[in-house]
Amino acid sequence: MFNKILIANRGEIACRVAATAARLGVRTVAVYSDADAQAAHVQACDEAVHIGGVSVQDSYLQWQRILDAALQIGAQAVHPGYGFLSENADFANACARAGLVFIGPGAVAIETMGLKAASKQLMEKTGIPLVPGYHGADQSPSLLANEAQRIGFPVLIKASAGGGGKGMRIVHQAADFADALASCQREAKNSFGNDAVLIEKYVQRPRHIEIQVFGDSHGNLIHLHERDCSVQRRHQKVLEESPAPGLSEDMRERMGAAALAAARAVNYVGAGTVEFIVEQSERGMDFFFIEMNTRLQVEHPVTEAVTGLDLVEWQLRIASGESLPLTQAQVKVHGHAIEARICAETPDNDFLPAVGRLNVMRTPQASRFAVSAVRLDSGVREGDSISPYYDSMIAKLIVHADTRAQALARLDQALARLHITGVQNNVAFVRRVLGTDSFARAQLDTALIEREKAALFHQQGWPVHQAIVAAVAAQLRSEMTTQQAWTDPWSVRNHWLIQGQSTRGFDYALDEQSVHAVLSCEVRGGMRLHIANDEADFSWHDEAGQLQLQWGEQSWRCHVYVNGPDSHVFTDAGECRLQFVNPLAHASQAVAAGGNLAAPMPGKLLSFAVAVGDKVRAGQALAVMEAMKMEHTVVAPADGTVAELLFAAGDQVPEGAPLLRLSLG
Ligand code: ADP
Repeated sequence: MFNKILIANRGEIACRVAATAARLGVRTVAVYSDADAQAAHVQACDEAVHIGGVSVQDSYLQWQRILDAALQIGAQAVHPGYGFLSENADFANACARAGLVFIGPGAVAIETMGLKAASKQLMEKTGIPLVPGYHGADQSPSLLANEAQRIGFPVLIKASAGGGGKGMRIVHQAADFADALASCQREAKNSFGNDAVLIEKYVQRPRHIEIQVFGDSHGNLIHLHERDCSVQRRHQKVLEESPAPGLSEDMRERMGAAALAAARAVNYVGAGTVEFIVEQSERGMDFFFIEMNTRLQVEHPVTEAVTGLDLVEWQLRIASGESLPLTQAQVKVHGHAIEARICAETPDNDFLPAVGRLNVMRTPQASRFAVSAVRLDSGVREGDSISPYYDSMIAKLIVHADTRAQALARLDQALARLHITGVQNNVAFVRRVLGTDSFARAQLDTALIEREKAALFHQQGWPVHQAIVAAVAAQLRSEMTTQQAWTDPWSVRNHWLIQGQSTRGFDYALDEQSVHAVLSCEVRGGMRLHIANDEADFSWHDEAGQLQLQWGEQSWRCHVYVNGPDSHVFTDAGECRLQFVNPLAHASQAVAAGGNLAAPMPGKLLSFAVAVGDKVRAGQALAVMEAMKMEHTVVAPADGTVAELLFAAGDQVPEGAPLLRLSLG
């Protein structure tokens, strides 16, 4: 085993690798950019080396600097994590030349599998089923358009060097092909430095099922069964589970065998994943190879949960020359595991990535009386920021239970106890996905979110009254803690004493709705709270940070986090955000923006789709921005005429900066 390894990554995966290394007594070296000097992964490692500026090009992709750091600090091996340099064959080769072990497969396997087109050609030869498509070298637009026609619409255009769903475009008709191709090529060039594409038949409602494989340098190769990663948004996984529900033993065996054949075709060593798309039809299920990822996957913890194995430990053992610790027959699957990816994003706004400071990040506690079956992998802590420079993933929540139904319930409960404020995120959205009929009945396919959209997007929070009661209690609690000499809520704020009764008003804004509440207190009696037209007795107390509330017949518990005028209320039923309105501050800032259309996030303006003087309709595309390596289309909020363009294509645009001015109407 190694004495010291360098982890060429950041965030949760760097922390994840460091944890196993520490358990095995292997010292770890972190690398970090200017933005990450205080990051969790730096603290998780024994030593750390600064490698450059905030951008990934200037830091985590600077492989020469990373190699120099590894040599200088005496590391024997480099763990690349996922993303960044993990599938970079040049880097793997450079490690070998420098006398460092690259913890991953050989450069040839990375190279062959790294290009979707090349890997498909090899798989075709190996006899592994492929989706009908075109993966040739000729990239002339007219040929590609003809191929799309031959395959038959709808087709999927993919970046050949792609990953993470980037660049992928579904095209439903020939007329849209050219634009989609250009947009895919642009995103591919930008993200992967390579604009080659391939075209595939777009399989309707497929499942995504992948097989975890492991090879060693002694010629042994086994698989650790499958993961179902069908629940996706923007072609990126949201929920992953193992085993794949409803997969017959025969399919499972055939897919395992195909995955091993794929890995064998490139003499695979280390951890890898062979991804398949599964078409479901009346005839049954057919599976097709889509790609092999030559690294550890984000979703590896579900495999760890059901097999009881530590995949990072296996990676380290195999890279240091050991044989696979188990044979195929010894690998057993127990129970069911599900992982949810918690991301900084706004599901209601086409999952636009969000940035900001994690003012609150409270995570579910391990159970007091049971073996913990909840795992949280994260590379950020409360107070850290999600920046526009890196991935938008905040954490992964993984649960394990005897059955799928129990795992689902446990995940929902754990998500209810994951409290995040300060950054928009998908926790509530994921809980709604778990609550859909499709998910509960394991009717999984990549269109699940689209199919269930009525129940998933633009949902109301929970009852207004409960939120207001909680916010009032939290207000009183914060006054108690800030006023040491507090005796009763009436001595600290403006109030009126009228014939032995004091009253106090509270104004809140929630979902654009304003709600007025009045708290009244008899001198020798309890409190009553009036909310809009209802009123009832009210009491509260704090139990270790959790508020116990009583309003009339209802009693419930919640956590409330107050930040300036904002209150975030979390109960098992969900979360709700409301704002305390200072009645003295009149609605003066209203409609500040007028017809200015602001950039939804910091990023680069790629192009305007309109010119000054153009008449536009609500919902029409106005501009394309790129942020976090993804393209986002900015649309007109209302009908109007373009009055002025305030940036030029190629400009870096700060968040909230007006992009263009529309005269409305
Ligand atoms: P990436 O490497 O960018 O993640 P993949 O090729 O792995 O791209 O595909 C990502 C996801 O896109 C798959 O999980 C699946 O949901 C969808 N997908 C890929 N190929 C097809 C296809 N031919 N038809 C329908 N959906 C597909």
